[in-house]
Amino acid sequence: MNDCIFCKIVSGQIPGKIVFETDEVLAFHDVNPVAPVHILVVPKKHYSNLHELISNEKSLVEKLFESIDRVVSDFEISEKGFRIIMNNGEEGGQSVPHLHFHIIGGTKLGNRLV
Ligand code: 5GP
Ligand code: ZN
Repeated sequence: MNDCIFCKIVSGQIPGKIVFETDEVLAFHDVNPVAPVHILVVPKKHYSNLHELISNEKSLVEKLFESIDRVVSDFEISEKGFRIIMNNGEEGGQSVPHLHFHIIGGTKLGNRLV
C-alpha cells in the first residue's frame, strides 16, 4: 500500500489544486505557499529522489523541466524571474519522499543560500 501523499494527489485520492498536467508530470499548488507563486512539479510515477529518477528514467528530467518552463510561462514569471528548488534527502530538508521541484516566484525573493 502506497501512502505517499503526492502519489495520492496524482491518483486523485486526495485533492490537489492542479495547474498543469501531462501523461507523466503533474504540477499543483503547494498547500503551504512561501511566495505568491509556489507550485510543485512532480513525476506521476513515484521516485523518491534524484538518484532513483536518474538511474531509472533519465529522460523524465527533460520532461520535468519542460513542464517547469510551461508553468512559469503560464504564471507570467518566466521573464520576471523565479527560483527552482529540489530538497533532496534528509540533510537536504526533503519532507515528502516523492521527488519534486518547487517553483517559487511572484515576488522579489530573499533568503538566498547561494
Ligand atoms: P519538501 O519539504 O519535501 O521539499 O516539500 C514538500 C512540500 O509539500 C512542502 O512545501 C509542503 O507544504 C507540501 N505539501 C505537503 N503536503 C501537501 C499536500 O497534501 N498537498 C500539497 N499541495 N502540498 C503539500
Ligand atoms: Zn509518491
